[in-house]
Amino acid sequence: MSRSLRQQERSRSALIAGLLIGSLLLVVLLSFQTHYAVRAHRELAEEVLTDYAALVADEFIRRSSVELGYYGFYPLVTALSGEQQLPELAKLRASDDARIARASALARSVFEYDRDSGNLHGLQGSMADTLAAWLTGELSSAEVSEDPYVIAHSFIEGRHVNVVYAAPPGTEVIRGFVIDDSTMPDWLETATNRQPLLPPSLGDGEIGNEHVFVELTTEDGEAIFRQGRYGQSSLFVEKSFSSEGPALYGGMTVRATIDPAVAGRLIIGGLPRSRLPILLGLWGLAALLIVLAIGLLRRERTLARLRSDFVSRVSHELRTPLTQIRMFAETLLLGRVRSDEERRRSLEVIDKEARRLAHLVENILQFSRSERGTVNLDLQPRPIFPLVRELADDFRPLMKNGRLVVSSDVNDDVRVNMDAEAFQQMLLNLLDNAIKYGPDGQEIGLTLSEADGSVTLEVADEGPGIPESERERIWDPYYRMTREKASAVAGTGIGLAVVRELARLHGAKVSVRAGDKGGTCFSIDFPGVKK
Ligand code: ADP
Repeated sequence: MSRSLRQQERSRSALIAGLLIGSLLLVVLLSFQTHYAVRAHRELAEEVLTDYAALVADEFIRRSSVELGYYGFYPLVTALSGEQQLPELAKLRASDDARIARASALARSVFEYDRDSGNLHGLQGSMADTLAAWLTGELSSAEVSEDPYVIAHSFIEGRHVNVVYAAPPGTEVIRGFVIDDSTMPDWLETATNRQPLLPPSLGDGEIGNEHVFVELTTEDGEAIFRQGRYGQSSLFVEKSFSSEGPALYGGMTVRATIDPAVAGRLIIGGLPRSRLPILLGLWGLAALLIVLAIGLLRRERTLARLRSDFVSRVSHELRTPLTQIRMFAETLLLGRVRSDEERRRSLEVIDKEARRLAHLVENILQFSRSERGTVNLDLQPRPIFPLVRELADDFRPLMKNGRLVVSSDVNDDVRVNMDAEAFQQMLLNLLDNAIKYGPDGQEIGLTLSEADGSVTLEVADEGPGIPESERERIWDPYYRMTREKASAVAGTGIGLAVVRELARLHGAKVSVRAGDKGGTCFSIDFPGVKK
């Protein structure tokens, strides 16, 4: 059994709705997929960047320790211990041995401690006494050590004191020096910039120290050395500078990071940006498109319903005049009329109904032509008032009762560019509606007026009027107001659509307002013809 048109239409709509929802789900799924892929990529990239930053920190620690220990502390301590008498610092600084000369710049003052006598001498400078008191205590308990040097640290009078000494076996003499803290940054800088901190093989040799940031701080947050820049999204790695034994400054922390701008050279694809805003935008767009599509679909359905209603409305409208015509024609044919008067009335009814039929068919044809865009008008300047008068005279006999009053302040020679048939169609449609929707015995006003170079034709009735909210929609094809459903007034819903289309082709504007005496007043505003 074949399905009805409506059923087919309904299942087609369901299919389209299903497809739309399917596409929305697909968009959501794809965006989730993208979002997770980007996040995974980002996490991986961040991990790699952090690993490389850790590499930088390790390399900085290794290199600084070597620089200070191997080129600084060790040669200086050796030079101090190598002589009979404790050498003077000035003499060491002037040494021919470049290594010793450089290393001695690290020292603020040198000292010697005798375990036997407990004597400490050589210390100089402002804090000499307090420093000596601490150092005597420290050294008296120092163990003999094979280590080339030992580091000791204290915090005296608000300042860090770093001391380096050697307590080799076989002697009671301990010699060492107090570090001049102000020389540290230079030494660390030299160590850092001997070569790039990040192995050149990692960034194709393009990532120099300007792209990495390292910072060395004491436990209480005082920065001893800092180099390079970092950005807002930089990922930091922290490492302890020395892991075992007494340490410089009592222990230091290295913070390192790599400029995210060079991430692209280290990781394929670089650090991906979050795609969330774009994805959210896409969702929004997809949702909008779907809402639009659903809106169109619904409009399409309403239109289809209106069209099918239209067919039954037209058939209904055609049936009434046809029945009348047949009935009176039969009466005449069967010779059932009793008088000439009756015969005349029958012929009049047939004529009236035939005209109604013709007008209805003409309306439908006109509508279908305008739907196909094939309306051809013969626009000529024609005097409007005589034509209106003539059409009104023709129309009066078609009225059951009531009056049609024509008034005009326009001269007979005022002309308007028009197609006479189309003009008649427009006027008849308006008059037809005025009669259909107005009360019996009403007065219909047909007015012509001229202002600002345009000629206005108005048709006013005494009917129920048209609410403000409906005044736009009544011009739409197939549209009939809901109150018409309950009333017995038949109609097709295309009359005003035809009026609007024909007026548009005349360059005229249509409008509707409440009439002066209640009811409705339709107007068509024609552009005047220059004399
Ligand atoms: P119809 O065949 O239904 O008359 P029209 O396009 O001519 O179609 O009119 C559209 C709707 O506008 C009508 O169904 C009616 O509700 C309303 N309408 C038109 N003319 C009048 C009027 N003179 N008075 C009140 N309502 C009107």
